[in-house]
Amino acid sequence: MSSAGSSVAASAGHVVRRLLAAPEGPQVVLLYGESGGDAHSLAATLAAGWLCTSGSGDGACGECAVCRSYDAKRAVDFQKIVPYGAGRMVRLGAVHFVEGETPPKFEGIPVIDFFRTRPLMAKAKVIWFDPADRINNDASNALLKTLEELPSYARVVMTTDDLGRVLSTIRSRCLCVACDLPADLSQTVGEMSEAERAFARTAGDVQKIRAATAAYEALHALFCRALTAPRGAAPALAEEARDVAAALADKAGEGARWGQLEVLALLAAWWAAHRPDDPRKTAAVIEAHRLVGGNVTANAVFDMVFATLLV
Ligand SMILES: [Zn+2]
Repeated sequence: MSSAGSSVAASAGHVVRRLLAAPEGPQVVLLYGESGGDAHSLAATLAAGWLCTSGSGDGACGECAVCRSYDAKRAVDFQKIVPYGAGRMVRLGAVHFVEGETPPKFEGIPVIDFFRTRPLMAKAKVIWFDPADRINNDASNALLKTLEELPSYARVVMTTDDLGRVLSTIRSRCLCVACDLPADLSQTVGEMSEAERAFARTAGDVQKIRAATAAYEALHALFCRALTAPRGAAPALAEEARDVAAALADKAGEGARWGQLEVLALLAAWWAAHRPDDPRKTAAVIEAHRLVGGNVTANAVFDMVFATLLV
């Protein structure tokens, strides 16, 4: 169990390092896992790496003026948005100015205003929502358009230990990265199948997989084959992956794009965990996820991904 836990934790770390090495990569990342896991430390690593002006692509340098201001919690180009008020929620006022807003008022800079101007010192402007499951519906809906039209210098990281409570429309705009698998998860959910051990990071994940067992098992079998398949198998695997994506979306009651993003997010983590010395291919899957999230036709993207992986 502990070896599975460590390889999975490493895979989330790999994905984060890939993100930092790919400046044109996804701008919105949701890190999730059981509370007490490493989602928070990875979010901090990601935020610091995005901000740092002298990093070489493998994370923050820890020494430049921006890194020092971030460590001292006074980086002007960074904002952490946490729940506020008696209801402990992130409300509409955190996204944009609300005329005559009823208290409690948001005390930071609303997201839209924050991202309106370029970074003052850092390489990017970064917002961290912690936790993302406390963003209320009004604020979530107001965020959707912003997340789709972020300026090139804007980055958003979100953390949660309750992925099911993050609005699906928000999730579909994020690269969702599963963090550590707690060693005692099987004590909570009982005996786990191979597909569950490969894909689940939280008890909620296990429930999600159990609600669509056949599709996730087909996906697991497909990913296992992809590790050793010859290049000629790429078109067939891509087609199979699209079929599984459709089945997953159907089972979850979500749109086709949700299933495609689910498959690509799992594939990115799978490749990072099983081929840690080949980060270029993991980066290609992350890029594919970004393209599909941006509404590029999935057929061509899936063909491209499997052709890249199976060399
Ligand atoms: Zn730095």
